[in-house]
Amino acid sequence: MSQSTPSPFEQARQCVMCGLCVPHCPTYAVHGTEADSPRGRLSMMLGLATGELPLDAQVASHLDACLGCRACERACPSKVPYGALIDEARAFLAAREAPMPSATTALRALRDHVLPYRERLGMASTIGGTLSGLRRALPEAGLSQRLLTLAPQPRPARFNAFGVHEPTAPCTGEVALFTGCTAHTDADSLRAALRLLRAWGLRVHVPREQSCCGALHRHAGDPQRADRFALDNREVFGALGEMPLTGVSTGCLAELQGNTTTPLAVEEIARLLLSRLPSPAPRFRPLRARVALHTPCSLRNVLRGADEVATLLGHVPELDVIPLPDGGRCCGAGGTHTLSHPEQADRLAGMALDALAETGATHLLTSNIGCALHLAQAARQRGLALTVEHPLGLLARQLDAPG
Ligand code: SF4
Ligand code: SF4
Repeated sequence: MSQSTPSPFEQARQCVMCGLCVPHCPTYAVHGTEADSPRGRLSMMLGLATGELPLDAQVASHLDACLGCRACERACPSKVPYGALIDEARAFLAAREAPMPSATTALRALRDHVLPYRERLGMASTIGGTLSGLRRALPEAGLSQRLLTLAPQPRPARFNAFGVHEPTAPCTGEVALFTGCTAHTDADSLRAALRLLRAWGLRVHVPREQSCCGALHRHAGDPQRADRFALDNREVFGALGEMPLTGVSTGCLAELQGNTTTPLAVEEIARLLLSRLPSPAPRFRPLRARVALHTPCSLRNVLRGADEVATLLGHVPELDVIPLPDGGRCCGAGGTHTLSHPEQADRLAGMALDALAETGATHLLTSNIGCALHLAQAARQRGLALTVEHPLGLLARQLDAPG
């Protein structure tokens, strides 16, 4: 008996087209068209599955413009697994070589050959330190300029503290730390994480052999490459034995937890720190300041840990933490969307900065490196004096402990 191949987008049939997800969609907020809403995209997937809808450039562009924020999935009463479906749609488009802004030669080269590899990323940030260097490496119009404006400023020193770090308080357990591309883009947050975890009495393992999380590849229609990274990471972290895996970028953690091939025992870092609060609890120096707290989509909609970050920051006396009043809307970063769809990304960042202005804060905290770079760049474009950092950076600075 021959086995029948499952038809594509099978789970899209769960959608009852109620439209409850539509107002939560950031691309719908920007464009106001059904084709740029989750319901519209699910209809397109169903049309492609039956062959009633031909795959043309317009269909591809509406599917490609999805940020993968999964706000729709969170809002859906029918539990449509939209995140998995849009990944399937991207793989469907990529296999048919559909023309998409996210699949240009230069972006693919960046995603496949530079971003996942620490040494190459380090080299790229050196030769790419100048616009002319970037133009030589990435001649595609606009991309080199955009990359340069996104680069963290000032450029952080790379993270190189691989190995095992002993706790600075009586040992209560062990934890593994994922670094990924943050070893080159957000070393300060990794160092802050190390300081806090060790002060919590945790022995921290940071294996040098770990790979990229693969999120950018999965969301760009390359599940094979993403699965290879997942297998590599399973081997490296599995060899450490039973211990939670955490990290400083919620986008990476969401992928490590959610990939179906080899999901790992991931714990979002604020949740982990709260659940293992030593007794007596570590003390923090007071800070009389107002900070706005941005919640990345990967934290809100996938890891479901928005409250824990605010609770942890509540341990700093006198600190006034105001959740960004953005209604839970994506800031527009969306992995490499800030590079492939700069206009849409900038409109959404503009909305986030308008919401920020309402808080009166000039210090913004966010737990995902993509959002941090994107929002900091948008603020620079507006001429705003805004400091953007990871909540752990502030916590580690205020920690009243040696080390
Ligand atoms: S995805 Fe869910 S919320 Fe959106 S239209 Fe379909 S059933 Fe309704
Ligand atoms: S994932 Fe985000 S951008 Fe994409 S359809 Fe859902 S809500 Fe809209």
